Amino acid sequence: MGEFHSTHFTLEKVSSYVYAAVAKKGSGSVANAGFVNLGDQLLIFDTFNTQQASADLKKIAEKITNQSVTWVINSHWHGDHIRGNQTFKESKIISSEVTYSKMRGFHPSRISKQKNDLQGLSTYIQSLEKQGNLKLNDQLHFLREIEKSLPTLELVLPNQTFRRNHTFSGTACRAKLFTLGGGHSFCDACLYIPEEKVIFMGDLLFVNGHPTFFEESNPNQWIQILREVERLDFNVAIPGHGSIGTKQDISNLIDYIAEITTVVSENESLEEIEIPSKYKNWGSPEVYHQNIKVLYEMRKS
Ligand SMILES: [Zn+2]
Repeated sequence: MGEFHSTHFTLEKVSSYVYAAVAKKGSGSVANAGFVNLGDQLLIFDTFNTQQASADLKKIAEKITNQSVTWVINSHWHGDHIRGNQTFKESKIISSEVTYSKMRGFHPSRISKQKNDLQGLSTYIQSLEKQGNLKLNDQLHFLREIEKSLPTLELVLPNQTFRRNHTFSGTACRAKLFTLGGGHSFCDACLYIPEEKVIFMGDLLFVNGHPTFFEESNPNQWIQILREVERLDFNVAIPGHGSIGTKQDISNLIDYIAEITTVVSENESLEEIEIPSKYKNWGSPEVYHQNIKVLYEMRKS
């Protein structure tokens, strides 16, 4: 789709009315996003890590659907899903109540700290450039996009919230936004488009890459949520990170979480834990050991 080119993502039409914007490495997107043409309304799912990436998404989505953005969803509070919100100030922005309060609680100080240390970021970028290491290229480009976004970055909070679910009914199709609580983050929301058999999973799903666990993650609840989602009728699952997946990727992630939780509960020492061979080809292998550490701390507390 030449005329719909962005340096931040690859656009993929996954069904008649649903498009996935899959993040390019070393860009201003970081996470995936996408949009649904409801017929008489245009719905955006997540807004990337920067306003330059979300501006591309808005432009392309509006061109393809020939209408302006009606709704914007924030799946959870993490920066790479919400920092592009300012592009959509004219639209209705919706998240769960918990996601709204976490955004309001965490981001203002985080963003002002980053704005105040723009010089530090620039110095760091220059030091990476001096190393001339090709392996650092993606990291370098990702940081340059943040450097570019910070001077004009504004935190734009959702102007609507929902508790458990919210249905968008359009003339072409329906989209069901829902949360079953928190697995990856304090509260994670999915968007299910039943007629299209497509679901946007946010960071409850990573495809061909290690999912990230944080102190706030809840591995058991994460598995429960994925089991619930698996019961829905769909063929395409759009993850928060990685390539477009299927139902199989959901059951792979259930296995991964169950296995890594067991590894942590059965090992007294964190030394010498190796990545199981079936995950050896997954992206970001360093995340496996970070996850082990986070889960180990969780077990202690
Ligand atoms: Zn996340």
